[in-house]
Amino acid sequence: MKTSAPRRPAPKTAQRDHRPPAARASKAAPTPGYAHAFVRADKERSLARRHPWLFASGIERVVGTPAPGETIALVDQAGGFIAWAAWSPQSSIRARIWSFDPADRIDDAWFAARVQRAVARRRHLRHRTDAIRLVCGEADALPGLVVDQYGQQLVIQCLSVGIDTHRETLIDALVSATGCQDVYERSDASVRSREGLPPFNGLRRGAMPTAPIPIEEDGVRYEVDVLQGHKTGFYIDQRDNRLAVRHEVERLVQERPGQAIQVLNAFAYTGGFSLAALAGGAHSALTVDSSAEALAGAQRNAQRNGWGQEQLPVEQADVFALLSRCALEQRRFDLIVLDPPKFAPAAAHLDRAARAYKEINRKALSLLSSGGALFTFSCSGAVNADLFQKIIAAAVIDSGVDCSLVRRLGAGTDHPIAMTHPEGEYLKGLLLRRD
Ligand code: SAH
Repeated sequence: MKTSAPRRPAPKTAQRDHRPPAARASKAAPTPGYAHAFVRADKERSLARRHPWLFASGIERVVGTPAPGETIALVDQAGGFIAWAAWSPQSSIRARIWSFDPADRIDDAWFAARVQRAVARRRHLRHRTDAIRLVCGEADALPGLVVDQYGQQLVIQCLSVGIDTHRETLIDALVSATGCQDVYERSDASVRSREGLPPFNGLRRGAMPTAPIPIEEDGVRYEVDVLQGHKTGFYIDQRDNRLAVRHEVERLVQERPGQAIQVLNAFAYTGGFSLAALAGGAHSALTVDSSAEALAGAQRNAQRNGWGQEQLPVEQADVFALLSRCALEQRRFDLIVLDPPKFAPAAAHLDRAARAYKEINRKALSLLSSGGALFTFSCSGAVNADLFQKIIAAAVIDSGVDCSLVRRLGAGTDHPIAMTHPEGEYLKGLLLRRD
């Protein structure tokens, strides 16, 4: 395909050139053989700031007929190179950037290098755990790819058509970078449909996982159901917050010798925070979720560590109703975790979500014993950290409970956020202590 970009005269007014030096040096697009998309002048700035997405509205016209997932060159109004990107004709995110370097060639070796770098960045976690997010999309410059490792099992999610197109190359690179032979794909997230991709849940390499996979994190054992579990099976992103819960329980145990520390883990899924609290010396962790399967998983996790019903009682309930009931019964907890599902899947749901966050937090605060701790989270991308803190502040005021913000919380270090892609920050949390 011969698609050299037609040239246009450069604009008369002097404009700052925001592109990387290498691109500035050669105005000509070094891209024969690739389709080109001309970026609208008013959208070039976002790419100059290295944002990894270009929306459909940012594209003026396309030269060539790129297939979904094909690598194209994004060029400015003068035909100068801006970036290599994956073309996604069905998505409103029409192009996802692979690289801003004109010298790059987006080939197998390029993907292998990105994967190796992502895997190497996580080495520091291996002494703590064998459940690690190896690739975290935009933060690892592989937009749309998520890879989790559980023991010797890899689980991938291909959430963009560019990643889907290069799936086999990426799997080869992952197998070679990790030595893991078994790769399962959990691409059943709804975002796939926005890329024009059908859901996929199945084996890609090696052997099928025949049973839940045992993992160990900070000395606590869990099992992970990669076939049916949420996301790829486990909330890896909460690792550091599980440890923070454990430390907070240790503090309470020290401060209150002889007293049984009671924990409430609401929206518990398979009980990650409950186990962390028990590891810290809690007397019991009431584990609440609306899903019976999740709670059965929590009970199996407790057994794996030698804890039973008494330490980890479960209750299948709606958390909103349960909190009200606990208030009526005047129950008190020394530590409460609130880790609800995404209340705001999109900005359109913000008002309702804010009310829901406020309500559960207000109720939970009133159940805290004096000196007790609340770990409260939001994983709604649409609720940023500032807004979340404001909602919690409003809940504190309404509850009439005096408390202090002790720490801000986020996802673990294997979930970094690209500074050029603030949308990557989805998980935020606060640790409050009742005064
Ligand atoms: N804290 C968990 C992850 C929570 S995911 C962990 O660290 O592993 C959110 C959980 O909330 C899911 O397990 C879901 O079943 C549950 N859930 C959603 N709405 C609920 C409700 N209204 N009441 C109780 N549980 C709910």
